[in-house]
Amino acid sequence: MSEAGTTAIRVEQTQQSRLSQVDFNDLKFGKILSDHMLVADYADGQWEEPSIVPYGNLSLSPATSAIHYGQSIFEGLKAYKFADGTVSVFRPDQNLNRFNKSASRLEMPEVPEELFIGGIKTLLDIDRAWIPQLEGSSLYIRPFMFATEAALGVHPSDSYKFIVITGPVGAYYNKPLRLKVETHFTRAAQGGVGFSKNAGNYALSLHPTRLAQEEGFDQLMWTDAIEHKYVEEAGTANLLFRVGDTIITPSSDTILHGITRRTIIEIARHWGYQAEERKVSVQELIEGIENGSVTEAFAAGTAATLTPISEIGYEGKIYTLPDPEKREFSNKVLQYLNDLRYGHIADEFGWNVIVG
Ligand SMILES: *Cc1c(COP(=O)(O)O)cnc(C)c1O
Repeated sequence: MSEAGTTAIRVEQTQQSRLSQVDFNDLKFGKILSDHMLVADYADGQWEEPSIVPYGNLSLSPATSAIHYGQSIFEGLKAYKFADGTVSVFRPDQNLNRFNKSASRLEMPEVPEELFIGGIKTLLDIDRAWIPQLEGSSLYIRPFMFATEAALGVHPSDSYKFIVITGPVGAYYNKPLRLKVETHFTRAAQGGVGFSKNAGNYALSLHPTRLAQEEGFDQLMWTDAIEHKYVEEAGTANLLFRVGDTIITPSSDTILHGITRRTIIEIARHWGYQAEERKVSVQELIEGIENGSVTEAFAAGTAATLTPISEIGYEGKIYTLPDPEKREFSNKVLQYLNDLRYGHIADEFGWNVIVG
């Protein structure tokens, strides 16, 4: 580690930056990718020296095992630029931790901190100009790892690639969501891989989600695999509800433990709210909406931070939640996180990791 907290990495700068072609006022999520990427190979039981190279295509064998058998995991986090130009990454230690949990569940090697966090910091330093300064905009960071062994037998690959790509993303309009409670398809079962951010979890969600979208919903609200009685999460975000001064979020080893969810729970407790991580039945939720005790409901994830839920469809009936504009806790926490991430207020939890 150097003094700047970055790791020594071989760097090949691009000869042709694409930065001047980017319209920072019209960014579509994940479409525009920055000039450089970090690449590290794992072979013979160890990580080789990483390098930062111009963003570009990979060349892979058609037998690459990740394509056939799905040893493929990822993370998602964001960097922000303060008004004074300071660059900060939000809680990357949490992403590292979760990445390595995903890795070990899929029998993949863990990635060391110097490579994951040191690598991200070095990459951000090089592509600093790609981090938007417009408030609400940020740089999305996508670390991922996949199996690269070129052989068709089903076994853990003997080689892997760890890559980090990034791209600027615009202010997200948090349009209130209409969610359908899914009671047929299953996202994750006990003992499975629901807690890991692996590629297969997203592939399996696409078909059921499309069916719900054809019925006019935005996303699914997944339920447990056994009885379809307990709510789990929404699309690719976690669920949180407010009842009185208690924030309630479903908990189980089948959900993806979101860092946004954890952050919101920590803030809620700090502000004097109660927070409960427990099973939440569809019945409890529906009754709470009907009797007015559930005053807020939202989905939480890195992409949009917090998105209010306006309607929930269950067994052919629609349940409507209170007006998102009037939701005290959600709006307060969204504002607080915004202020914290752009350096407007003191970082009392120590969540901002400054680059360079
Ligand atoms: C990434 C993800 C989340 C949200 O996690 P964050 O760390 O808050 O971004 C929730 N559910 C699923 C299925 C996810 O993939």
